[in-house]
Amino acid sequence: MTMPETAPGPTVAVVGGGVIGLAVAWRAAEAGWAVTLFDPEPGSGASWVAGGMLAPLSEGWPGEDEVLAFGAAALARWPGFAGRLEAVTGVDVFVAGETLTVAQDSADAADLRTVADWVSDRGHDLRLLDRAGVRALEPALARTVRAGLLAAAEPAIDNRQLVTALRKAAAEAGVVVRPVQVRDLAELEHSRIVLAAGAASAALWPGLPVRPVKGEILRLRQRPGTQPPPTRVVRARVHGRPVYFVPRADGVVVGATQYEAGFDTAVTVAGVRDLISDAEVVLPGIGEYELVEASAGSRPGSPDNLPLIGRLSDRVIAATGHGRNGMLTSALTADAVLAELDGQPLAEAAAARPRRFAASTLSGGSR
Ligand SMILES: Cc1cc2nc3c(=O)[nH]c(=O)nc-3n(C[C@H](O)[C@H](O)[C@H](O)COP(=O)(O)OP(=O)(O)OC[C@H]3O[C@@H](n4cnc5c(N)ncnc54)[C@H](O)[C@@H]3O)c2cc1C
Repeated sequence: MTMPETAPGPTVAVVGGGVIGLAVAWRAAEAGWAVTLFDPEPGSGASWVAGGMLAPLSEGWPGEDEVLAFGAAALARWPGFAGRLEAVTGVDVFVAGETLTVAQDSADAADLRTVADWVSDRGHDLRLLDRAGVRALEPALARTVRAGLLAAAEPAIDNRQLVTALRKAAAEAGVVVRPVQVRDLAELEHSRIVLAAGAASAALWPGLPVRPVKGEILRLRQRPGTQPPPTRVVRARVHGRPVYFVPRADGVVVGATQYEAGFDTAVTVAGVRDLISDAEVVLPGIGEYELVEASAGSRPGSPDNLPLIGRLSDRVIAATGHGRNGMLTSALTADAVLAELDGQPLAEAAAARPRRFAASTLSGGSR
């Protein structure tokens, strides 16, 4: 493959057009870079499949200090990012303003207290609720729910609206989209290359510690006469498996399975069965909804649940490995890559620097 269209002046090639590549391309073009985005099918990866939770606090757990700090910093960047996106596209991507995690039994309730204490000690606002408090917020939840944890500052977005809005914003900012698969970064002549190929990133940088982590998810539509879906994100654990509900204008997204299966994105019968049966335990009315879509995607997993954002070489910047939080961390990632392009790495993204892994792991050839 030859890339003769390289423009004069500083140019950026963004490889991969999921939310990460699109957000980076848009922001870099707005900042004055000449940006070309390479992707045979932009927006077709995990970003199209996802749920849209922005929930770093509810997912906090003792010992995971860096993940919490990174996630909270990412969440703090969302209002500005979404505001700018709405200003240029007219699209408001938010679908909920709060996240409620519910407990089904005493072990779950104890875990909620653990999360509340640990996260609150780090300066974030989480509120424990008793059974009545939960039911007052979300009356459609099962009577078996015995406690809850409310994160009033954790919203959710519609991932598909986000992809669509980012594509529009990128186009308006002058990003040139080349619908081709990049086979070797060395073939790109641009001054800088941003590697944002999601779970496939290691194919372009051998040794990069990013692997596919499969997830299945359902999209349900409310039918006339059925109970309305929750108005906020609801998260729970059933039979040891996580299940969550993310509101949509016409219904709800129910996610998600998580297991290692290579690049397999087939939806399995067992995956759908587990999601539906777990969802019914928490929201009994869900069985009356229309099952509109079951899909699966490959999360770009990393060994420590933090992404890889930063220099791999003089020319190549990684923006990958976002695992199950790529929606949440897209705004911070875009800002961090812009800072790298300007030669001034962002302190808030220090924990995500690829150099935390051994240099031998990251050698990636001679690019
Ligand atoms: C079931 C499920 C639920 C999820 N829920 C949430 C959630 O609620 N909240 C959250 O924050 N995150 C969630 N995630 C995670 C989130 O979807 C990912 O972290 C995020 O989409 C990663 O974005 P990306 O742009 O890196 O990758 P992708 O969206 O996978 O995009 C990668 C792109 O790279 C392109 N590409 C690959 N190889 C090449 C190549 N060689 N040349 C050119 N282009 C290439 C692909 O075509 C693709 O478009 C979920 C994921 C799944 C699967």
